[in-house]
Amino acid sequence: AQRDGRSCVRFFEPEMDIHVERRIQIERELRSAITADIIEPHYQPLVSLQSNCIIGFEALARWENRTLGRIPPDVFIPIAEETGLISALGDQLFRRACSDAIAWPETFTLAFNISPIQLRDPALGQRILSILGQTGFSPRRLEIEITESAFVERTGVAKTVIDVLRQAGVRIALDDFGTGYATLSQLLSFRLDKIKIDRSFVSQLDDSTESRVIVHAILGLAKGLGLTTTAEGVEDACQLGFLVANGCTEGQGYLFSDAVPTAGIRALLNRESGS
Ligand code: C2E
Ligand code: CA
Ligand code: CA
Ligand code: CA
Repeated sequence: AQRDGRSCVRFFEPEMDIHVERRIQIERELRSAITADIIEPHYQPLVSLQSNCIIGFEALARWENRTLGRIPPDVFIPIAEETGLISALGDQLFRRACSDAIAWPETFTLAFNISPIQLRDPALGQRILSILGQTGFSPRRLEIEITESAFVERTGVAKTVIDVLRQAGVRIALDDFGTGYATLSQLLSFRLDKIKIDRSFVSQLDDSTESRVIVHAILGLAKGLGLTTTAEGVEDACQLGFLVANGCTEGQGYLFSDAVPTAGIRALLNRESGS
């Protein structure tokens, strides 16, 4: 459209203006939100499907902006990635999450999302370890969540970063499994500890035979490879029943709890212990 000159460009103008303007606005606000350390992690429990107990939390970024309202991470994370802000934002969120997690029961895990863009930085591994050192949070209690696309592009750097972390005892989880386009051999060339089954499969368990077949196969594959499994987006007892019957090790989703701010964790743990 742009190449063809004015008439074509004008045809698309009104809609594009809104998009471009809003994007520019979000980008500007994002910069100041990072400077002011306003974006904060909330925490969604990971529940053992054997014991039904909380065994850790995944940190999920939350941003409440004065003028724009609540902006979801699906919107601002990609913008942070495109603008190079993800590195500063990621470090900031990780530092916050470690400081929060230090107050949790000692056996609890912190799961933290790392974008494929962050994994292009060879210094990331050392930076994560130094934040762990500064906050006093043990690398053995940290689980890094990485999506398939990180395993496809520039795999050399990603491998080095992952090796550094693994050697320090950090566990690696493959996020959104089944939605990317990495081959199994690409995935297996990285040493993984866990597979997270994407919500799109879990949400269809009740009414799609195909989803049940796929989830059953993923759980079998993971078991054969000695990996733990988390089902994402568990919303009802029916889905839970299927997952338990098929040997899924952990669950996460609204059935258990949405992500809560750090101040809400105590109430969640009290509810669980019945006090
Ligand atoms: P994700 O890592 O796959 O996170 C799971 C998403 O599913 C979260 O959305 C969570 O709130 C949502 N969810 C959890 N349980 C349920 C459920 O039962 N039903 C439904 N419908 N949804 C459920 P959220 O918080 O909006 O985050 C979206 C994505 O943004 C995340 O997907 C992750 O890719 C990215 N993200 C969030 N926080 C961070 C961060 O700190 N760093 C990076 N790099 N990415 C992040
Ligand atoms: Ca995740
Ligand atoms: Ca996920
Ligand atoms: Ca996702």
